[in-house]
Amino acid sequence: MALPIRICDAAKHVGDEVILRGWLYGRTDKGRLQFLLVRDGTGVMQAVVLEGSVPPEAFAAARRVSQESSLIVCGMVRQDRRAPGGYELAVSNLEIVQLAQEYPIQPKEHGVDFLMDWRHLWIRSPRQAAILRVRAHIIRAIRNWLDEHGFVNADTPIITPSACEGTTTLFPIDYFGAPAYLTQSGQLYNEATAMALGKVYAFGPTFRAEKSKTRRHLTEFWMVEPEMAYADLEENMRVAEELVSHVVQSTLQHCQRELQELERDTKPLERVCPPFPRLHYDEAVRLLNEWGVPLEWGDDFGAPHETAIGEHFDKPVLVHRYPAKVKAFYMQPDPDRPELSLSVDMIAPEGYGEIVGGGQRIHDLALLERRLQEHGLPREAYEWYLDLRRYGSVPHSGFGLGLERTVAWICGLQHIRETIPFPRTLGRVWP
Ligand code: ATP
Ligand code: MG
Repeated sequence: MALPIRICDAAKHVGDEVILRGWLYGRTDKGRLQFLLVRDGTGVMQAVVLEGSVPPEAFAAARRVSQESSLIVCGMVRQDRRAPGGYELAVSNLEIVQLAQEYPIQPKEHGVDFLMDWRHLWIRSPRQAAILRVRAHIIRAIRNWLDEHGFVNADTPIITPSACEGTTTLFPIDYFGAPAYLTQSGQLYNEATAMALGKVYAFGPTFRAEKSKTRRHLTEFWMVEPEMAYADLEENMRVAEELVSHVVQSTLQHCQRELQELERDTKPLERVCPPFPRLHYDEAVRLLNEWGVPLEWGDDFGAPHETAIGEHFDKPVLVHRYPAKVKAFYMQPDPDRPELSLSVDMIAPEGYGEIVGGGQRIHDLALLERRLQEHGLPREAYEWYLDLRRYGSVPHSGFGLGLERTVAWICGLQHIRETIPFPRTLGRVWP
């Protein structure tokens, strides 16, 4: 009796009579020989149908099966160096499950807008499927590392009563007649769960209503946010570089086939291991001006600055101690120079820009109250957050790692929109 197998397991079944259940990716018609490329979500395999070796109705089906038709193929697995993937199927029978209508995506160059309109089908292409598999692996690697290093997964709400840092970039919703917002970060809540559990992380979707039309911004993206009680900026940087190094090395190890499909040059990724260079904001400003990418001391980085820094080093860079005024109200000031914050951003190499933002949070009640006032934030909304400084406050730190930017970097993609099954951007909420 033939058993169903997955294409990724073909090597284990050489000589076996098996069943493949998938879709027609492509085919070559050589008259009495039909070469069908069958994909099943785990890979693509060539199925060879020879007239006379299959029932006549099966051969007729092989001749008329259209692109992306669903089909079930039986046959014997053979090793063949010429076949894509190294194995092929000598078909003994074949059945069409559904004969697909004319497929809108042809094997030719299509514009990205066209492909995005057909995103629900585009994700079937080997390249898009490879990206989504890498994404899934990256999520697994992130969770594994955090779980194995004593972090407790404590998710934070998506519907929130108020803004973390002001309402301008929030999506408002009508919560039974009262205003509420989709979260842009789980951080404030992470600080509460960290005081309960020690080391925590939230991993979920976050939303930004910013009108950024760049290749690095989505309006809905996933962020993993570790937060640690009794941790300072140094500890925070160590955790960030360890986590990111693990994710990169683990992906190199487990996603070779996918990275090959994506034609990713893996050399730059192989170098990603601790320690990452650390760059004080002062020094970053000096270097940027020296390189002809001017930045006035006190200003935040734009994309050109991040790109310049990323290209100058061959590993991700930890830029620390940004001016307090370009960072959020809760950032702990540097005790030696209060105009600086104990913040850190990680800039990825190869022009991928910021992938991590974080820092040490203010633990002193009076200072935090002053900052809320300076930032014009409504105190009532933050009473619960202030409680964390009233009841057993400790120095604590954390960061947010953007999943899609990490996927774009590791896969070597031009644009962030291909890193998530259904991207949401300034101009697109469909399909
Ligand atoms: P940027 O300045 O690049 O817009 P940010 O400083 O506003 O980003 P943070 O609030 O620090 O971003 O968010 C933490 C991480 O989340 C970032 O380092 C990045 O990896 C990711 N991220 C932030 N905004 C977006 C977005 N709009 N789309 C995708 N990822 C994002
Ligand atoms: Mg940031």
